[in-house]
Amino acid sequence: MKSAPKTPGIVLLAALGLSLSAVAFSFPAAPRQDDPRAEIVNLRRYTHSNFTRVVLDIGTLREYTFGELRDPGRIYVDVLQAKLNPILQGQSYPVKADYISQIRISQKTTSTVRVVVDVDFSRIQSYRVYHLFDPYRLVVDIYPHGTAAPATEPQAKTTPPARRTVPPVKREVDPKDPAFNGTSMARQLGLGVRTVVIDPGHGGPRPGTIGRSGLQEKEVNLAVALALRARLREAGIDAILTRESDVDVGLDDRTVIANQKRADLFISIHANAHRDRKRGGVETFFLNISPDPSVIELAAEENATSTKNIGQMESILEKIVQNSKIQESRGLAEAIQKNLCRALSRDLSGIRNLGVKGGPFWVLIGGEMPSVLVEISHLSNAREEAKLKTKKYRDLAAQGIYDGIMEYIRSLGKG
Ligand SMILES: [Zn+2]
Repeated sequence: MKSAPKTPGIVLLAALGLSLSAVAFSFPAAPRQDDPRAEIVNLRRYTHSNFTRVVLDIGTLREYTFGELRDPGRIYVDVLQAKLNPILQGQSYPVKADYISQIRISQKTTSTVRVVVDVDFSRIQSYRVYHLFDPYRLVVDIYPHGTAAPATEPQAKTTPPARRTVPPVKREVDPKDPAFNGTSMARQLGLGVRTVVIDPGHGGPRPGTIGRSGLQEKEVNLAVALALRARLREAGIDAILTRESDVDVGLDDRTVIANQKRADLFISIHANAHRDRKRGGVETFFLNISPDPSVIELAAEENATSTKNIGQMESILEKIVQNSKIQESRGLAEAIQKNLCRALSRDLSGIRNLGVKGGPFWVLIGGEMPSVLVEISHLSNAREEAKLKTKKYRDLAAQGIYDGIMEYIRSLGKG
């Protein structure tokens, strides 16, 4: 990619933030196709009295970069892992505005689609590039001189504008390339998962569930979280705990921390309890409404509330889950669940994989990033409780969650 020369005083770029804004996601629930590229079939443009809007319909979350070029003046947006429907190849669109001569779209490389807006920089005051969800689309708004930049569409990220261009990062790498398995893999991939907030459940006066031998959940959760943090930091990922000692943190505050830190992922670590002490195994949750009574029971336990309150919560949830990152959270949950089961089975053969489920967990509500709650094993099961006491098993749990996070990060480059 050519470097984009900066133009002082003219650029008002949408802050892409350091979180997931400029990052590709995969939709693991969607059927995998042989061609991982998202097909672009539509480009729309509108000229209003005070600005021009260009909308590129993509449908599937894709990473993108943008910048500007001179002589002649151009604003470009490159969508990665994308292919252009042949009908649009090489198309150009006139625009009824004297500050834009045309809009062009083309397949720049086999996996990159480029949109170019030919602009007269001397006539424009600012522009912004941002994305919207449901369906996923990229928007370029261009404001001529003498206009006030209106607010972005309601769904847009409300991060404050930054006076900087996003450095174009070459991201056409093979995530399976062994060269990227070393330290700082996420950074090398440029996929944007820089910060992970790890939430050791309960703490202080709230022990969580307590095993027959007296082992308290809060202690297990913290030990696993600390071990996970060490592994993530080794890999060059900024890992932050919601608590680093035996203190209580409010459920709402835990995601507030994650949002403030602009975390890319939120992982709440718990140990399970079940009335049936024979029941054991690993399960991972993402935020959703659940018709399953046993999930509701567990959520009530983790929410420190009653099952009745969960019922009231569901109506709130219905509204929230529509806007939350369910697909991404589910993908993260699946990667963690699979790797965690694999890791723990090295020390506890035959540990059950109870699967990935949606559940109304309060601690997952506030997060603006993919968020999961993992129940690493059952403290109510004597065999698992005995294992949860050991450093070996706790380290394996941390390793399994770590492996899951890394698998998820690698999956971001596909789709
Ligand atoms: Zn818990």
